[in-house]
Amino acid sequence: MAPTKRAVVIGGGIGGLTAAAALHQRGWAVTVLERAPSLEPVGAAISLAPNALRALDVIGAGDEIRDLAAWQGDGGLRTPSGRWLARTDADAVTRRFGGPLVLLHRATLVTSLAARLPASAVRTGTAATVTDPGDAGRPARVGTPDGELEAELVVAADGIRSAVRGVLFPGHPGTVYSGFTTWRLVIPVPGAHFASHETWGPGRIWGSHPLKDGRVYAYAAAVTPAGGRAPDDERAELLRRYGDWHAPLPAILAAARPDDVLRHDVHHIAEPLPAHHRGRVALVGDAAHAMPPTLGQGGNQAVEDAVVLAHHADDLAAYTAARLPRTTAIARQAVRVARLNMMTGRAAVAVRNTALAAVSKAAPLLFLKGFEGIADWRPPQAPYAAPKTPDGNHPRSTPREGRLHRTR
Ligand SMILES: Cc1cc2nc3c(=O)[nH]c(=O)nc-3n(C[C@H](O)[C@H](O)[C@H](O)COP(=O)(O)OP(=O)(O)OC[C@H]3O[C@@H](n4cnc5c(N)ncnc54)[C@H](O)[C@@H]3O)c2cc1C
Repeated sequence: MAPTKRAVVIGGGIGGLTAAAALHQRGWAVTVLERAPSLEPVGAAISLAPNALRALDVIGAGDEIRDLAAWQGDGGLRTPSGRWLARTDADAVTRRFGGPLVLLHRATLVTSLAARLPASAVRTGTAATVTDPGDAGRPARVGTPDGELEAELVVAADGIRSAVRGVLFPGHPGTVYSGFTTWRLVIPVPGAHFASHETWGPGRIWGSHPLKDGRVYAYAAAVTPAGGRAPDDERAELLRRYGDWHAPLPAILAAARPDDVLRHDVHHIAEPLPAHHRGRVALVGDAAHAMPPTLGQGGNQAVEDAVVLAHHADDLAAYTAARLPRTTAIARQAVRVARLNMMTGRAAVAVRNTALAAVSKAAPLLFLKGFEGIADWRPPQAPYAAPKTPDGNHPRSTPREGRLHRTR
């Protein structure tokens, strides 16, 4: 019998955990090394489109996520005064792309992914890097504070500031500032129910979307120099920038506490990498192709990467061929959309809004065109059989309970 092949996954975020679950289901012996003390993710909620949900179906997680998430799509685009520029329709999204667009807390997603791995597979509090990418004749090597590990495959899912990317491609310039900062918060829904919306002002946007569990996910983005921080606190900064926008913004801002608000500057990889692998090491997710969040596809693409990598785990050139052109095109589209929705000049904004309102009235489904070729993606493989638990059932996680904190 051939010896079990070893995979080391650096990074226990969305991409790393999906890859680990997929490889585990294909029979690899998987070790996930996560630098943070727990798998608890930073960053509020995440939207997943039909493409990522189909990728999650491969590892048997798609239906659980569809069940735990709020189904998105009913709502639309507004101006700061509250005027609707465009309305969107959840059923139209589902019909066009063969499934829903969903929104859930990141911790719920991470819990569901981690539940598909043996507890002993995840080592938290363990920063790692590649010391030798290996080749056809020798395994790759990964350095950890406890010594080196050898593996037939290393998955580098260490995020936007990936150290492994620098080891594999030292000449690559890395990331650039995308020109805007973001704020995110998740709090109980304050007051009456409201429709999901994204609102575009000059150089600023805001989105509010109910989650399934009675909370609201709100995010904002604004054109500003990199590295800025509010002189007092970020909730006060949001009040200054968005306090006079339409309902439900004032109620959300009144209910939020300063500690609820996360702020992150946005960076992306402007120059694509020459490949998404070297030797026995494959880059996954933001490590390979960090993109602005304007299409909501960064995490979706990480999940796609993960299942395509499991499919091509023995042929990393095929993995690069499958992923590099697609993720490059989507990242470029995300940059173009960022230019459109972060437009600053008032005259240009007025022209943009008039055009958006006219298109929405004349051909409402035209808005879905931007997701053609993205949301209709299908994974290359059929779902793997989900391993059964000792009681004969398929694994199902319990969100926000216990499973996020696994240490050595
Ligand atoms: C404001 C905002 C909103 C977004 N909204 C969406 C959305 O709605 N939908 C969507 O699809 N995407 C969205 N994204 C993008 C999405 O967050 C990322 O694309 C996604 O998290 C990438 O996943 P990842 O696994 O590649 O990296 P990460 O989620 O960043 O995970 C990387 C992990 O690696 C760990 N790590 C780093 N270095 C090491 C090391 N040396 N050793 C061990 N571990 C290490 C980190 O601690 C981390 O846990 C958004 C991004 C932003 C900024």
